[in-house]
Amino acid sequence: MNTDFDYIIVGAGAAGLMLANSLGKDSFFKTKKILLIDKDKKEENDRTWCFWEKGEGEFDSILFKNWKRIQFLAKDFSLDKEITPYAYKMLKGSDFYTFMLEKIQAYPNISFQLGTVLNITEQQNLVEVEIDTATLKAKKVFNSIFDVSFVKNQTKYPLIQQHFVGWVIRSKKPIFNSQSPTFMDFSIPQKGNTRFIYILPFSDTEGLIEYTLFSAKTLEKEEYELAIKQYITEVLGCDSYELLEKEKGNIPMTSYDFNSQNSQNILHIGLAGGWAKASTGYTFKKTQKKTKELISFLKVNKPLDTFSGKDKYWFYDLLLLDILYKNNAAGSIIFESLFKNCSPQILLKFLDEETSLSEDLKVISSCPSSYFIKALFQRIL
Ligand SMILES: Cc1cc2nc3c(=O)[nH]c(=O)nc-3n(C[C@H](O)[C@H](O)[C@H](O)COP(=O)(O)OP(=O)(O)OC[C@H]3O[C@@H](n4cnc5c(N)ncnc54)[C@H](O)[C@@H]3O)c2cc1C
Repeated sequence: MNTDFDYIIVGAGAAGLMLANSLGKDSFFKTKKILLIDKDKKEENDRTWCFWEKGEGEFDSILFKNWKRIQFLAKDFSLDKEITPYAYKMLKGSDFYTFMLEKIQAYPNISFQLGTVLNITEQQNLVEVEIDTATLKAKKVFNSIFDVSFVKNQTKYPLIQQHFVGWVIRSKKPIFNSQSPTFMDFSIPQKGNTRFIYILPFSDTEGLIEYTLFSAKTLEKEEYELAIKQYITEVLGCDSYELLEKEKGNIPMTSYDFNSQNSQNILHIGLAGGWAKASTGYTFKKTQKKTKELISFLKVNKPLDTFSGKDKYWFYDLLLLDILYKNNAAGSIIFESLFKNCSPQILLKFLDEETSLSEDLKVISSCPSSYFIKALFQRIL
């Protein structure tokens, strides 16, 4: 077995696969020997990915569904609007893994190794990666194993979790609006937290319903499932349905300085690198963007811990998370104000971190100002 590589990518999830594919297709890296390692074969459909984008995208050929509208609901407010030029796109995890692994296996300089990574240690000018069957060496390692203890063992930046359970159901009668996913439905009891229902309607009788919280603590499994059942019967008015699939997730929402875990030759990527949008948990599209940036960065051969810095969006997210950490019930009020006062297009652009300063001000001024002024003073004083 070959044990020396230029790059080792640890984890063949969203970030690892996107990075391996981007390195493989770029002729600049064709002389680099690259290894991708995962403990899993990546054959399960373990998650549903959604993201929005304008026009055609890299994954259009494997999309499961794509919508031109979104809905937002609260107790006394609702909207259902077109989001053009954006589309809200959905991918099944298993389709993404197959699509990416097929591409990666065709690159002669990249190999895939099944193995559990036990340790990653930086030596002088090389990194040792210990797996269950061997010790491997690389000049640079890109690590997507997320160790939440780094975030938990500090108090400077609060950790909120986006935790959810989702059910894919098929009903006898039509209960879904197949044209319009529900981005957030805050009409459900908040119980002192930020709680909402997220719906991806595949047809008028089939869809994914997720009970989601942005909060510091997770719930017992039964509590998520009871809330989904109640929503199906009480809000969607359906008492006859089949449960087809379940999914669950927990995405960190934090402004923690993930770069502090990086070194000259080890870079954390994906969730482990802080590539989740801290205020929403959306990670897929940000990982695509970050991967592109990383490919350009690798061509100039700088130490990996100089890859990323903080920007204005990092600060906006920090303020929102400070608010939600101290007053977890504020989420529904803030998101309702945003959707009442801004178009979905400007909100999506803002969440994509592509707005101008004047657009930022429009979004920020549409939130209840008292929360943000207080959070701002608490951070700067
Ligand atoms: C159910 C679910 C739904 C989501 N939906 C969305 C969405 O709609 N939109 C969005 O933008 N984001 C979504 N996310 C968030 C985010 O996009 C995903 O978590 C994404 O998979 C993160 O990519 P990653 O590469 O950082 O981690 P992962 O995709 O989890 O990849 C990490 C890889 O490391 C491997 N691994 C872990 N430990 C070891 C080890 N010791 N040795 C070897 N391999 C190891 C794992 O097997 C895994 O393949 C969702 C997350 C979940 C859990």
